[in-house]
Amino acid sequence: MKKLALHWQIMIGMIAGILFGFLMTQFSWGKELVMDWVKPFGSIFVNLLKLIAVPLVLASLIKGISDLKDISKFKLIGGRTIIIYITTTVIAITIGLVVVNIFKPGSGITPETVEKLTQEYAGNSTISTRIQTAVEHKDKGPLSFLVDMVPSNGIKAMSDNRQMLQVIFFAIFLGICMLLVKPEQAKPLKNFFDSLNEIVLKMVDLIMLTAPYAVFGLLANVIVSSDDPSILLALLKYAGVVMFGLFLMIIFYCIAVSLYTKKSAFWFLKQISPAQLLAFSTSSSAATLPVTMERVEEHIGVDKEVSSFVLPLGATINMDGTSLYQAIASVFIMQVLWPEGLFFSNQLTIVFTAILASIGAAAVPGTGMVMLVIVLEAVGFPSDKLPIALALIFAVDRPLDMLRTTINVTGDATVAMIVAKSVGKLGDPKVKNWDDNQ
Ligand code: ASP
Repeated sequence: MKKLALHWQIMIGMIAGILFGFLMTQFSWGKELVMDWVKPFGSIFVNLLKLIAVPLVLASLIKGISDLKDISKFKLIGGRTIIIYITTTVIAITIGLVVVNIFKPGSGITPETVEKLTQEYAGNSTISTRIQTAVEHKDKGPLSFLVDMVPSNGIKAMSDNRQMLQVIFFAIFLGICMLLVKPEQAKPLKNFFDSLNEIVLKMVDLIMLTAPYAVFGLLANVIVSSDDPSILLALLKYAGVVMFGLFLMIIFYCIAVSLYTKKSAFWFLKQISPAQLLAFSTSSSAATLPVTMERVEEHIGVDKEVSSFVLPLGATINMDGTSLYQAIASVFIMQVLWPEGLFFSNQLTIVFTAILASIGAAAVPGTGMVMLVIVLEAVGFPSDKLPIALALIFAVDRPLDMLRTTINVTGDATVAMIVAKSVGKLGDPKVKNWDDNQ
């Protein structure tokens, strides 16, 4: 019998997890049961993915660069990647601003709803932590992101998944210097990283075998931890506008892929779907990165020279879904709480700060909210109303985080394909024997 494709297996795991979560909400002990006995399997899976992220980025980037015939190719790939990333981010923010201004989701929110949401969430500790993180971020100088990119201790950088940009910097530096010394001197190190890279990719395959069970645990947990449905209902229009904007972004990626790379958009979505489903289940593009890399290289056919640079960089600096969300959430909040601030120049400020915030933000759950505080402060939103602003969107943040992370990952894969095509590095898929999608 033909084995069910991986994305179907994951999808079944997700649906079963959602149904199980709903079933458990019917029992007084259900939430605890999920937290104690089901969620841990999801957490183990996320930990496993995070465990291999640094070795994978390091090995694959060093291999990718040291395989280059000359450094000028790297400059070309680097320059194009950054320009395309900024372009897709601007497009995402523009789509966000257009839909939020057309549909005005803020107009449906009554003062009673604001009151209810404020009472429910404004004192929430997560909200105060998010505001605090944003304040710390703001206190840094304008060039701090460049300084932060250069580690003073490479080993320390590798011990912290949040320092992916530092790991990327170290790997690029090492890889370039491997090209500059005599080939026989670089050979032993190159062989070491080539071998590490193959082995870590095999670890991804093994971890992915457990994905259908892990997403069951992750989604059952999301359901039992979610809020009162009547609150979610009040925010339905806002959530609908965000979803519509994210959907437009997917259409944009499909058009870009089929026009520029001449590959079918459906084929692209099918190949990348396991990474999308994991992004949705984990809300973290960083945790999804190993799977995104494996899918883009082996199932789409992007050469490692491109994917090893474009994807880890994208997971950190390119967050189209999050940027689109910033635009919608900030204008929505202003429509409800501060309509007098809604003028054109403030919307332009949103574009610029959302770009900068998405570059500096970490690819982990909930980052979008921290960035939102930065964006709101930049337009002069009264800081005493910030807790109310976040309370307004808090209830639907988790489901929207799941969706925007899916778009973030799809955007990175799209750009990897486009850059690869532009430098003649988009080949045929090279699925290995005994792979996860056979
Ligand atoms: N969770 C998102 C990511 O990892 C970031 C965010 O929008 O909160 O890409």
